[in-house]
Amino acid sequence: MPSGNFIDYVRLYCRSGKGGAGCMHLHRAKYVPKGGPDGGDGGRGGHVILEGNRNLWTLLHLKYQKHILATDGGHGGQSRSFGKDGEDKIIQVPCGTVVYDGDTGEWLAEIKEDKQRIVLLKGGRGGLGNWHFRSATNQTPRYAQPGEPAQERNIVLQLKVLADVGLVGFPNAGKSTLLSVVSAAKPEIADYPFTTLTPQLGIVAVRDNCSFCMADIPGIIEGASEGKGLGLRFLRHIERNAVLLFMVPVISNATDSTDPRDCIQRIEKEYRILLAELEKYNPELLTKARLLALTKCDLLTIDTQTLQEKLDIPVFCISSVTGLGIAELKDALWNELQKEQNQVIEISHAPIDVIHRDEDDADLTTEEEQHTIYLNEVEEEWDLSKYKGIGWDE
Ligand code: GDP
Ligand code: MG
Repeated sequence: MPSGNFIDYVRLYCRSGKGGAGCMHLHRAKYVPKGGPDGGDGGRGGHVILEGNRNLWTLLHLKYQKHILATDGGHGGQSRSFGKDGEDKIIQVPCGTVVYDGDTGEWLAEIKEDKQRIVLLKGGRGGLGNWHFRSATNQTPRYAQPGEPAQERNIVLQLKVLADVGLVGFPNAGKSTLLSVVSAAKPEIADYPFTTLTPQLGIVAVRDNCSFCMADIPGIIEGASEGKGLGLRFLRHIERNAVLLFMVPVISNATDSTDPRDCIQRIEKEYRILLAELEKYNPELLTKARLLALTKCDLLTIDTQTLQEKLDIPVFCISSVTGLGIAELKDALWNELQKEQNQVIEISHAPIDVIHRDEDDADLTTEEEQHTIYLNEVEEEWDLSKYKGIGWDE
């Protein structure tokens, strides 16, 4: 992925839709005297919603979209017809997108999972039509509720997370090579530390139609959590990876002993240093699912049983050169990722001014209004004489 397309910060102005006004209408039709109130309710304004999308990896698609405007609700109509609801605006963002208030910088929410939704701005509720306000004492209410106003807000979206699977390992562990083998990414591969200066992403295809994202994060070295090397800058990106794949080569230097026992000892030591680095940075990182891949297994065969028991972690022997164990590793990573679940979160907002029905009644019960009510409440006297002789026997 070219670095120019790697957008991890955008600023947007968002506005939800206004609620449609309720309708004030009195039914009129031939031969139907006093049809009564029949004004319908206004429609809801559109929400502005953020939705996680696991197929997105950057905020590039939002870079030139400065305004996100949901549409207003339609007004209510006669015959109790409802106004149309405004259309919601759904902003698709990659998982790991954090939302901040664009003016105060206040943290608002975070999209962590695919399909997770956050209603960022609620659309205004539609006003009630006058049909709702009919009552025994007021049979022709001549008023209806206006719709709720829209909400607006500047927001900043920042991408924290880059991938489902983060590769954690020292320089030269074979991270870039693995990424180039399992995905279409073309990371730089070389025999010296720090060939990877910006995080590299790759989409890994698994089974039928499934895929996940893998990020090669520039090698962390001992002391990275204290700011040494390049690591610290990128540790931030590991924070939201769902699964961490630790990578330790079975042989890292040509001078390394090839005695299996020495190897196991060295691998164990390296793994524990990596763990300690992550823990120093943020202990929560250790609560993530993690797997250990022993890389470069074409050079040496290792019995994983001992390591697995000792380190209490699933261990895979892989070779990016021969393809050994790669399919099994992809499957295992996929299974770990499937343990994630979808979730819907709504953030609460300070209440906006809502016109309540009671207040509404009180405001509008003027003398005139009362007069009207009074007039309409008088039932016409039936002229019983008309019915004499029809069906009744006196
Ligand atoms: P990174 O620093 O972790 O990204 O490591 P690289 O992917 O750049 O690899 C470092 C060196 O290890 C390169 O010279 C690779 O060719 C070599 N290498 C990577 N994977 C394998 C492997 O599976 N087998 C062998 N023999 N060499 C490998
Ligand atoms: Mg690399």
